[in-house]
Amino acid sequence: DTPPPSEPPRLTVIGTGYLGATHAICMAVLGYDVLGVDVDERKIARLASGEVPFFEPGLPELLTKALESGRLRFTTSFEEAGRFGDVHFICVGTPQQPGSDAADLTYVDAAVRSLAPHLDRRALVVGKSTVPVGTAARLSDLLRELAPAGADVELAWNPEFLREGFAVDDTMRPDRLVFGVASAWAEERLYAAFRPILELGTPVVRTDLGTAELVKVAANSFLATKISYINAMAEVCEAVGADIKDLADSLALDDRIGGRFLKPGLGFGGGCLPKDIRAFAHRAEELGVGQAVAFLREVDDINRRRRARTVDLVRELLGGRIFGARIACWGAAFKPNSDDIRDAPALDVARTMHGLGGRVRVYDPAALDNARRAFPELRYGESALDVAEDADVVVLLTEWADFREVSPDALAMVVKHKRVVDGRHALDAAQWREAGWEYRALGRA
Ligand code: NAD
Repeated sequence: DTPPPSEPPRLTVIGTGYLGATHAICMAVLGYDVLGVDVDERKIARLASGEVPFFEPGLPELLTKALESGRLRFTTSFEEAGRFGDVHFICVGTPQQPGSDAADLTYVDAAVRSLAPHLDRRALVVGKSTVPVGTAARLSDLLRELAPAGADVELAWNPEFLREGFAVDDTMRPDRLVFGVASAWAEERLYAAFRPILELGTPVVRTDLGTAELVKVAANSFLATKISYINAMAEVCEAVGADIKDLADSLALDDRIGGRFLKPGLGFGGGCLPKDIRAFAHRAEELGVGQAVAFLREVDDINRRRRARTVDLVRELLGGRIFGARIACWGAAFKPNSDDIRDAPALDVARTMHGLGGRVRVYDPAALDNARRAFPELRYGESALDVAEDADVVVLLTEWADFREVSPDALAMVVKHKRVVDGRHALDAAQWREAGWEYRALGRA
């Protein structure tokens, strides 16, 4: 049961990246007074001036609205954050540690260390970042240790499930909210901090801190497994000349299985799934239950093999030689409707082919600037047709709608050879073949 309404708490959001900026902006639009906090001065300046520093549909309009309402401000000062907030959301990054599968918790630790000394009144600190189970209990101790003597502070965990590309909708209308809490007071504060969303009838799971942390990694592990499952079937299809598209479509029609996350292709990437399954496997090993999730290593391996297999497919279509071939790569972002290139399969494939001597040119509707900055050695172009000029092969790597809309006849006018590798099963194979193209896709004869 929802506890009775109380004064809406004032919120801070610490870490204003993909997750934090979205959370801060949406909460302000929902009527809360929100202070966004980050250590990155440039990011804070851009947000404060009304510019979303990354691509996310719908978010720029909401940022303008939130700033105009006067309910959203940004700062780099933790002192200001401590003074301002009743509920503090921690949304900083938890990337993979270099040279290890473990999550790097430096940033969450730093956020708590910076905030805690400024919490001189009753406050709830809520972790939203994805962390190994056990982190919240440790941070809870750290928070109490570093808060001023006599301060009444508590930690809760509220894992985040938003998807880049749908971040606004996922924040405003989530499938569920998970509240990991250690007291009735923390629960009441979370209800107060999510009231407009709860009033939509959003289901809530109230649980302990550890379970809340686990829900997130369990969900991502399941999704990654579903993708690798269908890609494993694609490997078998290739061995016997069967068709993964028909197989996946047939499985999807079974209500018990469902078609979501059952799309064969180049596999998953991004700043979440790969590092989350690795960190989970690593944490489970630390806890002595590594065997229980050992399959996640296999899920990861299947996923990595897709990238190598895509390069093989391009090589096959080119008659065995990537060296010297002109290769048009469509896509750089790890998925469409995002400019995020963290562990992007598309760029991995493009870089491998570049390393093999291919004359690679990359185009992406949103991620070009990020790609250029991260991989200046690659060549880039300004449109799908531009990079395909004189190409020996076109390789679709991220399933942007823009690529699906390119007409095979229009493309035929600019390329040297009508060869296409569809790394995402995004194109209509029959249409392209009728237009005279050699069409190849993973898991299809
Ligand atoms: P991000 O890299 O885009 O943003 C992290 C932000 O934290 C950066 O702006 C960085 O400057 C800031 N930061 C780092 N240290 C700080 C500190 N000590 N104090 C204040 N700010 C600090 O990362 P993200 O994609 O937003 O992910 C954040 C967390 O949310 C991760 O744990 C991630 O796994 C999780 N998550 C992300 C998504 C997503 O779709 N991106 C979805 C669900 C969960």
